[in-house]
Amino acid sequence: RFITLEGGEGVGKSTQLAALAEALRARGLTVVTTREPGGSEGAEAIRRLLLEGGEERWSAPAEALLFAAARTDHVDKIVRPAILGGQWVLSDRFVDSSLAYQGGAGGLGIEAVRAVNAFGIEGWFPDRTLLLLHPEGAERARARDGAASDRIGGRPASYHQAVEESFRAIAAAEPERVRLIDASGTPEEVTARLLAALGDLL
Ligand code: C5P
Repeated sequence: RFITLEGGEGVGKSTQLAALAEALRARGLTVVTTREPGGSEGAEAIRRLLLEGGEERWSAPAEALLFAAARTDHVDKIVRPAILGGQWVLSDRFVDSSLAYQGGAGGLGIEAVRAVNAFGIEGWFPDRTLLLLHPEGAERARARDGAASDRIGGRPASYHQAVEESFRAIAAAEPERVRLIDASGTPEEVTARLLAALGDLL
């Protein structure tokens, strides 16, 4: 099975990815954890190109194509071989991040970005996507960033608001694949919600 965790900054994705992997292993499953942007050697090289250049280096379409190229390599080298080998793959971000960040918030359009990614990853969409939502996520990310400005990860709060709205629109269009998860409460409570949202796949 191929499971992805999605959400804006500060919702606790990384912590929950590790906890969910442990919970699935405790049920006897073999689990591979990975992340985007990156996850394979080629994709990590592209990640460096994306992050090192600063805001002005890439146009929005070029950036979206680089994310899609990285994702294609990640699927080829990591995701597909693991799943074909009978393992579960848990990825911290995947195609829905591109749809929400570059497509929705970035203005390229969700459908255009979906088309580019579909070309790259062919049929390798996740079996289930867990969308973590936390009312104070942006605030937590800002505190983590140093809180020097009102920007989070170099982008204004309005951008992150658009990211969340785009994620919600994607979830509404694909309710079977994408499940909304309340990421507030204790980490244990959130992990239990994630497991419950995978119940029919276990
Ligand atoms: O997963 P994490 O929150 O560490 O994301 C790393 C950074 O990459 C974030 O600042 C996120 O906003 C950005 N990102 C992006 N477009 C994507 C995936 C991540 O802008 N498709």
